[in-house]
Amino acid sequence: MNIALIAHDSKKELMVQFCIAYCGILSRHDLCATGTTGKLVAEATGLSIARYLSGAQGGDQQISARISCDEIDLLLFFRDPMTASSRENHEADMFRLCDMRNIPVATNIATAEVLIHGLERGDLDWRNIVKN
Ligand code: PGA
Repeated sequence: MNIALIAHDSKKELMVQFCIAYCGILSRHDLCATGTTGKLVAEATGLSIARYLSGAQGGDQQISARISCDEIDLLLFFRDPMTASSRENHEADMFRLCDMRNIPVATNIATAEVLIHGLERGDLDWRNIVKN
């Protein structure tokens, strides 16, 4: 499965801790991330992560392009609900594209935990069937 990781600044440490906790599962999948999120997670876990530009430079749009091509199977986007993002339009569009493709999305760690366990159990294997 192709998994995309994005975390707003105040959620990056949480993303790092999440990826440390689930490193074993994540290591069996293809990971990509926006620039800074990917750098921090890779440094903390040793996971191999394809890194796009930082979110501010368009990395989120690069991931959106992959979503629109159905190349992402799971999006973990830890958002800061308290800080307005200057890229809210891009982010809303990313979620819209996920809804078009029925791509599972977690915007907080509670949902991410559910999805990662589902991923491990094979609950997302239907995506391989749909894509092939
Ligand atoms: P970053 O991008 O991982 O490059 O910081 C995420 C974001 O949009 O905050």
